[in-house]
Amino acid sequence: MKIIKSISEMQNFSHGMRRAGETIGFVPTMGYLHEGHMSLAREAKGGNAKSVISIFVNPAQFGPSEDFAAYPRDMNGDLEKCETAFVDAVFVPDAREMYPDGFSTHVDVLDVTDVMEGTRRHGHFRGVATVVLKLFNIVMPSRAYFGRKDYQQTVVIRRMTRDLNLEAEVVVMPTVREPDGLAMSSRNAYLSPPERAAAPVIYRALSGAKKLYDDGERSAEALAGSVRKVLAGEPMVELEYAEVSDAETLAPLQQVTAGAVLAVAARIGRTRLIDNILL
Ligand code: AMP
Repeated sequence: MKIIKSISEMQNFSHGMRRAGETIGFVPTMGYLHEGHMSLAREAKGGNAKSVISIFVNPAQFGPSEDFAAYPRDMNGDLEKCETAFVDAVFVPDAREMYPDGFSTHVDVLDVTDVMEGTRRHGHFRGVATVVLKLFNIVMPSRAYFGRKDYQQTVVIRRMTRDLNLEAEVVVMPTVREPDGLAMSSRNAYLSPPERAAAPVIYRALSGAKKLYDDGERSAEALAGSVRKVLAGEPMVELEYAEVSDAETLAPLQQVTAGAVLAVAARIGRTRLIDNILL
């Protein structure tokens, strides 16, 4: 497994693969890898001649009052996991090389960022889209793999890829959960034991709403209301939003027709968690 730190070395590696006619499967991450990340890495390895995973805690996607400095990091553990998953190359760029002095170009994906995370984390998707475009230009993937856990992010990346005619095919994989339903997330490491014990209520609330939907409920307000009600029963959890949106455009819905997503953001103590379920 190659560990690559410089942008030019990564580009040379990828050019070599592409010239040899080999496909590259790419998984961008912020590290502190868990089974959710590794499911993407395995898919990238299985579907392509070579797999590349990047580990980069991207400062540009954190707001000034967010957890950039505290974000969990474990480079040695991450490299071991990549080795076990037979990843071909790990790209670990340096923030100063990614964002040199005078860096002044950004990608703003409009409309699909006007809801959900976009209205609560200003500048977040600008940071995400910009770094993903940079990583695509550096790694030159044939396919790039993203998790449905970050639903809005997958919509933003798909939109950017289409609008800017990027070559990479975007592949979205299901959310990997702990046995009690909690969506795996690097941020789960912040939870104290009592907070961790309370956290599965988020998925219970989403699953309850999905059951109502399956039983015929089509009112977005009723579905979101059922999430609010379940979460209100857990005093440690503070709901930020529960929104029902069109699965493709993310436009808010009043009645759920085919293809909707119910997305939730909630705080447990100082930890902010997101999750969603498809309706
Ligand atoms: P992150 O390191 O949090 O930026 O995540 C890197 C990639 O892994 C993103 O595409 C995430 O959506 C994906 N991911 C994170 N958690 C999960 C999960 N529990 N299941 C599936 N994919 C995930």
